[in-house]
Amino acid sequence: MTLCMVYDVVIVGAGYAGAVAARRLAEDGDKKVLVLERRPHVGGNAYDCLDGAGILIHQYGPHIFHTNDKRVFDYLSRFTKWRRYQHRVIANLPRDNPEVVPAHKSTDGRFFFPVPFNLDSMKNAFGETEGARLGRKLLDAYPAQSQVTILELRHNPDPEIAAIADYVYEHVFVHYTMKQWGQTPEEIDPATTARVPVRLSTDDRYFQDAYQGMPLEGYTPMFQRMLDHPSITVETGTDALSRLELAGGVIKLDGAAFDGPVIYTGQADELFSFRFGPLPYRTLDFGYETLPQDYFQTHGTVNYTADGAFTRITEFKHLTGQEKPGVTTIMKEYSKAYTGADGEIPYYAIINPENNALYAKYKAEADQYPRLCLLGRLAEYKYYNMDAIAARALALSDQLLRHPN
Ligand code: FAD
Ligand code: UDP
Repeated sequence: MTLCMVYDVVIVGAGYAGAVAARRLAEDGDKKVLVLERRPHVGGNAYDCLDGAGILIHQYGPHIFHTNDKRVFDYLSRFTKWRRYQHRVIANLPRDNPEVVPAHKSTDGRFFFPVPFNLDSMKNAFGETEGARLGRKLLDAYPAQSQVTILELRHNPDPEIAAIADYVYEHVFVHYTMKQWGQTPEEIDPATTARVPVRLSTDDRYFQDAYQGMPLEGYTPMFQRMLDHPSITVETGTDALSRLELAGGVIKLDGAAFDGPVIYTGQADELFSFRFGPLPYRTLDFGYETLPQDYFQTHGTVNYTADGAFTRITEFKHLTGQEKPGVTTIMKEYSKAYTGADGEIPYYAIINPENNALYAKYKAEADQYPRLCLLGRLAEYKYYNMDAIAARALALSDQLLRHPN
């Protein structure tokens, strides 16, 4: 018997997409599942680990779990308990910027307000009385909404609201977005800035989802438990592209035809040897600093919305709740264009009509293989949060279990 006949399903990648699908197919479909993961660990970009100082860090960027999807929350809750955590973010701006109105909260020549920009941020920016008046004006302008996007706000013809929009655009969005994407808010997919709306309330939470939190012992143990099943084999440190061959509508694993489902969660362009050209991405450099103090900042994340080369600083102890006096680790994020150089990771798809059209060519190529499923943030070339990927992995597994052939 050749190796590939042992397995019913092959999954490429052990992130949310791969791990959730593997568990559901193994457990509820009695499938023998092979998971191939290129990295030396499971968890994909949600992977966390202890750094040299013993602080639990997120190696591929800060990850905070939030969802309104009860099925996803219940599913993941089988593999982890949760630490109750509601993410709150503040913007840190230079006060010497002549355009910035001296704010009500200030230290060290800088000032802060909650992000998403809300009715309290308005008071921080414009002062108590004027901020409250402008807040009422916004509430009157959008009586049926709890939030408004910056792009929508910028189209409001009222001169005072236009001035608020200009302020928020300048102090929250334009510089941060230029740092993150190398483009203005108008040039990028509107859904991206809509993730961080202007709030017509004093709710200062970054997310408003019904279920929010952090896996109590971290993401990695949650993934390890999810993948710990007698019908799942995980091979880390294995590039699936050295094991799989795709040609003429046939997929081969280790040289032999494999006719079960292949769930691929890596880059779509890489799967087909970049034959239509590379899909554009943004990548990140992470600057870690371990400091001899209890805490560096007051919030889990502080966004540098107006200046600095990095977009934000995250201090992991706030997220994880880890108690470790006298030491803390922070991380700065620097965004840049992905070039495909060794060691670079394609973190963010750059969603626009041209890139979507390029992706569609790879998708059409994948569709030539009836048992091949592209799943996940990379394979689908989308800006998905963790919960959305978990939901898609469950939905795809449902479909494969209903129609096994
Ligand atoms: P990934 O996690 O990328 O997993 C894909 C896996 O496939 C990887 O482990 C990769 O090594 C492997 N792979 C690829 N090619 C091959 C191959 N040829 N052979 C073998 N293995 C291969 N979401 C939230 O909900 N909340 C957050 O706070 C949040 N913060 C984020 C911060 C940053 C900086 C980034 C970049 C993303 C953030 N996300 C967040 C999104 C989250 O990371 C994704 O939704 C999630 O990780 C997607 O899971 P995935 O399985 O699709 O992809
Ligand atoms: N954004 C911004 N200023 C901020 C926060 C976000 O301009 O203070 C914009 C920016 O374009 C960013 C997008 O909103 O890429 C989405 O922000 P989010 O925090 O959701 O990004 P992620 O955590 O996924 O990197």
